[in-house]
Amino acid sequence: MSLADKIHATIAHTGAMSVAEYMAQCLFHPSLGYYTRKTGFGVAGDFTTAPEISQVFGELLGLSLAQSWQEQGGGAFVLAELGGGSGQLMVDALRAARGVAGFVENAQIYMVEGSSALREVQQNALAEYPCHWCDSIADLPDMPLFLIANEFFDCLPISQYQKKGAVWHERMVTSDGTGAGAKLSFCLGRVVPNVVPNIGADMSEQTGTDNGNNFTDLPLTNLPDDSVLETCPPASAIVETLARHIAEFGGTAIIVDYGRWGNIGATLQAVRDHKKTDPLADAGMNDISALVDFRALARAVRPFAQVSALVEQGVLLERLGIEARMERLAIGLEGEALANHTAAHKRLTHADEMGSLFKAIAITAKGVALPAGFEYTGENNET
Ligand code: SAH
Repeated sequence: MSLADKIHATIAHTGAMSVAEYMAQCLFHPSLGYYTRKTGFGVAGDFTTAPEISQVFGELLGLSLAQSWQEQGGGAFVLAELGGGSGQLMVDALRAARGVAGFVENAQIYMVEGSSALREVQQNALAEYPCHWCDSIADLPDMPLFLIANEFFDCLPISQYQKKGAVWHERMVTSDGTGAGAKLSFCLGRVVPNVVPNIGADMSEQTGTDNGNNFTDLPLTNLPDDSVLETCPPASAIVETLARHIAEFGGTAIIVDYGRWGNIGATLQAVRDHKKTDPLADAGMNDISALVDFRALARAVRPFAQVSALVEQGVLLERLGIEARMERLAIGLEGEALANHTAAHKRLTHADEMGSLFKAIAITAKGVALPAGFEYTGENNET
């Protein structure tokens, strides 16, 4: 039985399913979920993440963390990655950080990974390093924590709410039957009081664009009927745990993701074979994700720790010296190899590719310097 068949049967039994439940089933169903079954990263897989495009991505982020570790006084610490995929990012970060005396020797390496298929891939990639695996950042030892998360938060289950008249309904997934050709579609669920869109007057904190959603200046009541907003309670909870850990034991986290500042507009999407496809079709066969709301993450951090201004991936990589590193790696390349190398650089940094859509924040304890590449938010540090 396919996961889609199972979902149709569940809905026939118990009624419409929340978007969060649907997304969790698609990605992490114990036997049929996308991440449980697949290890499909890279050119041969369904999508390509930044560390798969160029080694420079992991190198530059690894160096930024290593430098931050040095500035915070060095010593024994935990080096962790949240959702490490193929392990490529950690491999590149560790190789580059060898240049920072004592960093690798003092590191206890932890991969926080929910998929056992991907743990195996990571074990092979990181075979030369002593490395631990765990299920959650709450399992990490009580030590300074230097952490990277790339494209982790975008696959956590989101809830969607849809405006009708003066109220917000939870947006649900329903089915038109159980036989062959049955289709899933969205429908309205219960009315949910106290839904507050994540919009407001603090746009000065944001850098870059708002990804084409034009609602950010509108008062709440002016949101048109059928506006959809998204929340991701697991993302806020994980970031709060991270911020509390860093506040207590020290360290630095760098979070990079496909995201925006705010949460108005439906962004659930599916990708298969490098093409966008219908997120409600072929459950479990596509990579499903949603834009990360960096504003919600920043709000979860601020009571406990410091969060940087939002920065676009292209700007971050330029500040960290991608130009010089790419030039160096280009020495001796020619023909197709050189063309691929140049294309990878453009793909990571250009506004028309990943450069603007992907964004980053850094977290440190309050009063501690941010890592290289990140800027302070200034006065407008709302909570
Ligand atoms: N960072 C990698 C891969 C990103 S894909 C890269 O840049 O290439 C998302 C990763 O997060 C996968 O490894 C997936 O298994 C993991 N993941 C998703 N949700 C998780 C959760 N709740 N707990 C732990 N790992 C999770």
